[in-house]
Amino acid sequence: MTDRYTTNDAGNPAPSDDQSLTVGPDGPILLQDHYLIEQMANFNRERIPERQPHAKGGGAFGRFEVTNDVSAYTRAAVFQPGTKTEMLARFSTVAGERGSPDTWRDPRGFALKFYTVDGNFDLVCNNTPVFFMRDPLKFQHFIRSQKRRLNNNLRDHNMQWDFWTLSPESAHQVTWLMGDRGIPKTWRNMNGYGSHTYSWINATGEIFWVKYHFKTDQGIGFLTQEEADRLAGTDADYHQRDLYEAIERGEYPSWSLKVQIMPFEEAKTYRFNPFDLTKVWPHSDYPLIDVGKMTLDRNVTDYHTEIEQAAFEPNNIVPGTGLSPDKMLLARGFSYADAHRARLGTNYKQIPVNSPQVEVHSYSKEGAMRVKNASDPVYAPNSYGGPQADPARAAEVAWFADGQLVRAAYTLHAEDDDWGQAGTMVREVLDDAARERLAHNIIGHVSNGVKEPVLSRVFEYWRNVDPDLAKSVEAAVRANLDQ
Ligand code: NDP
Repeated sequence: MTDRYTTNDAGNPAPSDDQSLTVGPDGPILLQDHYLIEQMANFNRERIPERQPHAKGGGAFGRFEVTNDVSAYTRAAVFQPGTKTEMLARFSTVAGERGSPDTWRDPRGFALKFYTVDGNFDLVCNNTPVFFMRDPLKFQHFIRSQKRRLNNNLRDHNMQWDFWTLSPESAHQVTWLMGDRGIPKTWRNMNGYGSHTYSWINATGEIFWVKYHFKTDQGIGFLTQEEADRLAGTDADYHQRDLYEAIERGEYPSWSLKVQIMPFEEAKTYRFNPFDLTKVWPHSDYPLIDVGKMTLDRNVTDYHTEIEQAAFEPNNIVPGTGLSPDKMLLARGFSYADAHRARLGTNYKQIPVNSPQVEVHSYSKEGAMRVKNASDPVYAPNSYGGPQADPARAAEVAWFADGQLVRAAYTLHAEDDDWGQAGTMVREVLDDAARERLAHNIIGHVSNGVKEPVLSRVFEYWRNVDPDLAKSVEAAVRANLDQ
């Protein structure tokens, strides 16, 4: 008999691993078999609501080490030279459900949590530098268009292209998605991008706009549509398995963090509106600056408590860092925390994986599933030694805003349009083989269920991105549909 005897959830020794309590060997089961009832009841409650979106994912723990000096731009402790910080990463697809294949064409989530000396710092990145829209009012509609129809519960390419072609600002992201990077070879072979513009503030109070780029040290890799389709049928958890097994083998994947820095005043006159999430800042305008390296070196031991209950949110910011006027980013500040309250409960930050590694002195108290003690006084201001806010320590980033209340698109800067950067990618970034694969992927996707009136808009959409690409897409799709 082993020392590790089974107990019930109260720690009482369990009477049996395999026999329930009955009246005689063939008799009825008894209500007082509390252990049996506990097992059945807990089993019925094992599932929690899956994330909406980003339900399918996996991750690992690691560390982030600063290798360069960027203190001229930020006072954040996590970015000071030589600093090492424990961290967690979670990678995911967007539209698929918890059991869906890892290799469906989709952007990938690349969510990071840094357990810093100033509390948790989260960067909820994707593996793409841009996104499908720039206004958060459209986000919910976009995700619905990528998930399932109400009547037949099927995903539907016609619905996806209907939304995209009625939302021309999606063109840059859709071009990226239909290209090689729309299906990474593994999570280890993709970059992570903060995508949004964020802010940094240095020790003298100077503010900079910043974009984060986590570049894979394993090299970019992709799957062709045919390889991905095969894997979806033979190994639906291919990406999750790859990360886990690589770490078990001691092959720790790493990413080099680089940033683009824009001086505060340049945002007003830059040729692209720098807060528009559908645009990148070309590297030639704002070159990448080295910051440090993130390495994943520890697998989780309990997927549910450490990954399924991990709660990332863009508004976990530390002194020296901040948000920006990017409307999508500001809306994510609300929606992520709200999603966690809905899925995990109001005290989700007390779940160990979400708890900061510093003392918490907040005035929050009580609520369902609160497990760490709060203490008096329970209000501020007070005369009894309760914590007091320190604005200088918080170093909040502020910017100027002024104007009438409106519902309007961003102010257009000199070169802003919906098609230009997508066209640049097609013509100047991709080589001939990558352009052919892009056309091949679009043709396959559109030929599978897209109907008029959406179909004509699809051809027009690609004519706006690149006329040559559009010509080959239209000819091949029409030929496929005529067959
Ligand atoms: P650069 O030539 O300096 O950069 C082009 C970048 O494109 C590369 O650095 C690489 O990003 C990325 N890239 C290469 N192949 C692919 C692919 N198959 N699919 C998607 N991205 C790829 O030019 P610019 O900075 O002037 O940008 C030109 C265009 O490149 C942009 O319009 C945008 O579409 C795309 N791009 C730009 C990025 C940026 O932040 N400036 C980032 C990613 C794409 P990486 O080095 O990050 O791997």
